[in-house]
Amino acid sequence: MNAAVSEEIVNKRGKVSSPVWQFFGYYKSDRSQTNVVSKLCKTVVPAKTGNTTNLMYHLSRAHPLEHSRIQQTTSVAATPHKQQITMERYSASVPYDKESKRYKDITEAVAYFSVYI
Ligand SMILES: [Zn+2]
Repeated sequence: MNAAVSEEIVNKRGKVSSPVWQFFGYYKSDRSQTNVVSKLCKTVVPAKTGNTTNLMYHLSRAHPLEHSRIQQTTSVAATPHKQQITMERYSASVPYDKESKRYKDITEAVAYFSVYI
């Protein structure tokens, strides 16, 4: 551990164009914000200003978990998949509801009958 490694990483100044920036910043001493640093592994990632291609590449290669998290928040393909699962669960639950209702009726009928024994 040296001073440079423990140095604070600050967020990119101004409006960020991509959610990938939550995992990247600049060393506080880098006042001109020229060297992009990975917050996760404190590695300087060569990237031109505003270009997130290399940042995405670094994330996918070095931090696949965080990369997949970003993919989930930005990808629209994840939504129909979730809806499909919900529909499958709903249709599967219908016969069970009928069965439990019938079972409940039988139970109540038996209980009712038992009173008059
Ligand atoms: Zn990293």
